[in-house]
Amino acid sequence: MINQPTISLTADMTRPTHVEINLGQLTANYQAIQAHVGRALVMPILKANAYGHGLLAIAQHLESIGVPYFGVAYLEEGLLLRQAGIRTPILVMGGILDNQIPLFLQNDLTLTASSVEKLGQIETAAAQLHLRAKVHLKIDTGMERIGVHYYNAHELFEAAVACQHSDIEGVYSHFANADAADLSHAELQLDRFMTALRFYDERELEPPRLRHIANSGGILQLPQAHLDMVRPGILLYGVYPSAEAERTVAVRPALSWKSRVVYFKVVQPGHPVSYGSTWQSAEMVRVVTVPVGYGDGYFRALSNKAQVLIHGRRYPVIGRICMDQLMVNIGWESAYNGDEVILVGQSGAETITFEELAEWANTIPYEILTNINTRVPRVYVLKSQPSMNNEQ
Ligand SMILES: *Cc1c(COP(=O)(O)O)cnc(C)c1O
Repeated sequence: MINQPTISLTADMTRPTHVEINLGQLTANYQAIQAHVGRALVMPILKANAYGHGLLAIAQHLESIGVPYFGVAYLEEGLLLRQAGIRTPILVMGGILDNQIPLFLQNDLTLTASSVEKLGQIETAAAQLHLRAKVHLKIDTGMERIGVHYYNAHELFEAAVACQHSDIEGVYSHFANADAADLSHAELQLDRFMTALRFYDERELEPPRLRHIANSGGILQLPQAHLDMVRPGILLYGVYPSAEAERTVAVRPALSWKSRVVYFKVVQPGHPVSYGSTWQSAEMVRVVTVPVGYGDGYFRALSNKAQVLIHGRRYPVIGRICMDQLMVNIGWESAYNGDEVILVGQSGAETITFEELAEWANTIPYEILTNINTRVPRVYVLKSQPSMNNEQ
């Protein structure tokens, strides 16, 4: 178990709530994506604590299987990886400020140059520090987030050609709608990107070695967008980016979220459950308490909406979800202290998915994953591919 407390507690003395991450499944997902994109490199995206899976453990595992590049959002995420001894190249995809540039250069982190001015700042810092900068140029083709607009891209390319202290290793853009059923905007973005890149042909120059634009949606739905590298985030973790996106790569979630029953009682009719007294029963029911709540990232919006699995059956979460606890109505069935409760994942023939949880909470699976709090221990297991035969 990661996050060993300083006081000596064995795993079975600590709170039973944890997420279990199957590293074998992560490897299988990575290989499925690689097989689908052919010769393109696969850059796992590790931002937001590796989509809740635990930044360092996931990076160490993926480095051990030989991934060629990592992508993160922020400088701090790159620094944590370098401080932990990760040597794989790391692209920081977010916007940068001038005063951050020395840390990039000293830690061999690849910078995103999203304007001519920022590229100039990178050049100046690299010259002053006598270090070489590794740079990817960022073109905005229709997201209006960061990057030089596609219709001005030649200005950034011109400036990059003149750089003395930077190696311009890549050029990239980002899709706003590649996970949609209607791909017209994504196709327009790809077309703008390829048109901007004609600059290099026209000048008879080699374009940067790594041209990339595809996130999970682009990997699944736009094979012509795979180019030299793809950037899977959510798909690598085994979750599809949207309900509409075509499932052209078979992946399965690497993460399941588990707890145990810590309390059992019988609740009388007309005796409301939890804060605000939002739920009560007309009959006598058996209710169990589970030690997980919104302080762990099990959103309060799931109150009176979510279901959990106990002994392979679905039961409703009743009343408001508290910071650290929630209550489950098991009707007139049995559950005992210590029995396993599945919040996300499989129990017997039943599965609760991130998509379901997201729908109940009126959000997207990305937000569920990235909000699993650091208070929840991550337990890593190396299972081989789960067998497909269902016991009936
Ligand atoms: C987050 C992000 C990705 C990964 O997106 P998914 O939809 O999770 O695959 C790729 N590229 C950039 C620039 C991102 O910010």
